[in-house]
Amino acid sequence: METIKLRLGALPLGVKIFISYLVVIFVGGIVMLTTAEFVAPRAFERHLAAMSAAMDTPVREDGDDSTAQLDEDLFVNFRAAVNEAITLAAVAATAIAILVSLFVSRQVVAPVQDMMRASRRIAEGHYDERVRVVGDISLEKMDELSQLALSFNRMAATLEHTENMRQQLIGDVTHELRTPLTTIKGYMEGLIDEVLPAEQDTYQAIYHQADRLSRLVADLQELSRVEADAYKLDIRAHDADIILQEAASCLERQFQDKGVTLHLETAENLPPVLADRDRIGQALINLLGNALQYTPSGGHVTMTASLWKHHQIKITVIDTGIGIPSEHLPHIFTRFYRVDKSRSRAGGGSGIGLTITKRLVERHGGRIWADSPGPGQGSVFAFTLPAARL
Ligand code: ADP
Repeated sequence: METIKLRLGALPLGVKIFISYLVVIFVGGIVMLTTAEFVAPRAFERHLAAMSAAMDTPVREDGDDSTAQLDEDLFVNFRAAVNEAITLAAVAATAIAILVSLFVSRQVVAPVQDMMRASRRIAEGHYDERVRVVGDISLEKMDELSQLALSFNRMAATLEHTENMRQQLIGDVTHELRTPLTTIKGYMEGLIDEVLPAEQDTYQAIYHQADRLSRLVADLQELSRVEADAYKLDIRAHDADIILQEAASCLERQFQDKGVTLHLETAENLPPVLADRDRIGQALINLLGNALQYTPSGGHVTMTASLWKHHQIKITVIDTGIGIPSEHLPHIFTRFYRVDKSRSRAGGGSGIGLTITKRLVERHGGRIWADSPGPGQGSVFAFTLPAARL
């Protein structure tokens, strides 16, 4: 039994379809023959009786040998005719089954084989491989195989995108790690060859680079957690004012030390905001930290919370700092993107903070954007969060 199952399983789909047709024809033939065997004698009797009545001949007596022989001959002929008809019908049905199974298998098997070939190519690393989608483009008008082909292509596109991101990430990370590592190596070689003085400044410079490396690794770790949605958000209704105050108090000292003032403005009668307090606090601290970093001493930073369309709350961080040239605005949320590479690097920036912030806001169902009137004229970072229904 097991071997039959295995053997059937290994047969091509076209052959399986053909066998299924044959089984239907065979069973149909058997049923027809058996039924004919039971029904034919009585049908024949009825037919004879009707014929006799029509010809107005007396009903035959039992035991009349010549008529009994005639009846039997007639019945044998009748049965032979029925069997012949059934056999002919079965042969015709088998021929049609061959044609139909060839047609159906071409319709079914060809796309499946197409997908098999494409999946093998993708497994070999050719992520740009796609299958042909036949039929109407709109989903409702497609048959299941075309829908499957469409899903397959979508899956292939996602794989291709992920693979590109992976390669780009490896390239970016390698690039980011190389600079501090090369600097540390240079200092160490200088110390070994005694061309650099073994003093406080040298150690300080090495420490600074090592610190940059460890911050970069921590940022990357955080980014991978956020991008993998590894956090389970604890969404509750919070007073927006409290969230702003908490973020401000975290960086209060740094603002004072640099001589940048920080204001909070919250609109009146604001409904509570639906957010994970820690995660949104983290996003806000990233924006506030940037505002502080890119605003010279004597500047101002303002945080506001106000009602936004479609029952949302808008939180903004406005600074009077160095601003962002308009051509850079579309890219600043991209991983490792820095407007002024040397300035950001010197400040220890990894170019990951805004990517993390964007992801956190989007996971809350919000949107984030940046604006700036131009270099030297400050920047505005704003994001929305859903408001709680009162
Ligand atoms: P970084 O750690 O380098 O600051 P971010 O992802 O936080 O990385 O920011 C990306 C880039 O966006 C920064 O390198 C900087 O050029 C620019 N940027 C971010 N915030 C501001 C701001 N408030 N003012 C001016 N430029 C900013």
